[in-house]
Amino acid sequence: RPEEMEAAFEDYGVMINSGEFTGLPSREGIERVASRLREMGKGGKTVSYRLKDWLISRQRYWGAPIPMIHCEKCGYVPVPEDQLPVRLPEGIRDFRPKGRSPLADVPEFIETKCPVCGGPARRDPDTMDTFVDSSWYHLRYIDPRNEEMPFDPEKAEAWMPVDQYIGGAEHATKHLIYARFIHKVLYDAGLLKTKEPYLHLFTQGLVLKRFFWCNHCLRVVEENEIEKGIHKACGNPIEERLEMMSKSKGNIVPVGPFVEKHGADTARITILFAGPAEKDMEWTDAGVEGARRFLNRIWRLYSKHRDKLRGEIPDFDPEKLSKEEKDLYIALQKTIFEVRKDSSEFHFNTALARLMELLTAMSRFKKTDSPVFLRSLRDYIVLLAPFAPHLSEELWHWTGAESSVFSNRFPEYDPRYTRGELTEIAVQINGKVRARLQVQRGLEEKQVLDLALKEENVRRHLQGKNIRKTIYVKDKLLNIVAG
Ligand SMILES: [Zn+2]
Ligand SMILES: [Zn+2]
Repeated sequence: RPEEMEAAFEDYGVMINSGEFTGLPSREGIERVASRLREMGKGGKTVSYRLKDWLISRQRYWGAPIPMIHCEKCGYVPVPEDQLPVRLPEGIRDFRPKGRSPLADVPEFIETKCPVCGGPARRDPDTMDTFVDSSWYHLRYIDPRNEEMPFDPEKAEAWMPVDQYIGGAEHATKHLIYARFIHKVLYDAGLLKTKEPYLHLFTQGLVLKRFFWCNHCLRVVEENEIEKGIHKACGNPIEERLEMMSKSKGNIVPVGPFVEKHGADTARITILFAGPAEKDMEWTDAGVEGARRFLNRIWRLYSKHRDKLRGEIPDFDPEKLSKEEKDLYIALQKTIFEVRKDSSEFHFNTALARLMELLTAMSRFKKTDSPVFLRSLRDYIVLLAPFAPHLSEELWHWTGAESSVFSNRFPEYDPRYTRGELTEIAVQINGKVRARLQVQRGLEEKQVLDLALKEENVRRHLQGKNIRKTIYVKDKLLNIVAG
């Protein structure tokens, strides 16, 4: 009975007191009630949004002016298209708040003619919320120099939607709602062919830093100002906190001095290695120290072998290598495989762990004139580049290259030697099995096809034929249709 109830039951359960629906699991009952209501013409299912109106005007100078004109006779009229965009007046010095928009005090901007009657009129003094701009920047980026329109719909069709969006968690409740709204308006207007602007969202964690706080002085306190947990200056106990780095709190690491002392690569490695990218990370001196040590180890290894970095690397057959060489070769293949895989899943910390392991293997390797060692040195630079771009660019130039390290393709691995459970893939040509491949699980169709085409028997049966089509059942079967 209602008077005995303490709270609403919010889970799924079994329906009671519901006539013909009594006894149904509520998950199913909800559907049945909804469809019955629709049959009766009395209701049905709908999605309800908790969206509110979006007030876009701001009383600020910095922003896109609202392209509207106030005329006493004609009312509120839009600026004609051939006068767009309305640009901000330059040379404004006074931005102090006066209870109205700063542009209201710039007569040469405000005073204009009414585009309808030609009489004296006033521009709207407000500017737009910057969320208006950020709602469609992904579209302008693909056509930034277009003078005629915001973007060319053909280019949008080629590029949209954005495959991967990366941003803080706060994006999900603000920017992305606005951006989706604008995108859908443009879709309805026929300018876009995709209903959604972004396919995937990745929200990275925050950078936290531990600090000491005096609740009396209301400020961050340095370690040398503390004695036995007491703020020496005021005699009050201090509090240890772990919070997001922020300028207002003062628990930040100033970028300029840090980069000067440790280099930007150290900052990147510190952050990327601290933990999974979607989790908050704690910035610590130990983390910085570890990152620096790693980069220094790389530097020392390459300095030692600098004279070996230039020139062609001789071809070699992995099956004819010595034990030591083959071990390094396999370690390299596994590292390439895992760095590719981990990076594509945003697991930069584990990718870096693999790079550290390979560095150890390379540092211990004895036969340093072996082509396997030279290959490892070369590939390692490219593998490292996304994580430590400055160092790897420098090392890449040691190889005699004129171009950037980023003009390389990311190294490919030899799937015969990468870790993972093995599987057997039957390779068929026109439905008949012509080879069986022992490979590690999870390969993509193209990789399997490449391997299949190396098989003697497959080649023989494809001789003089064109591959029309391939059908791939992951980890099991590749059927090549040829004729
Ligand atoms: Zn008018
Ligand atoms: Zn204090």
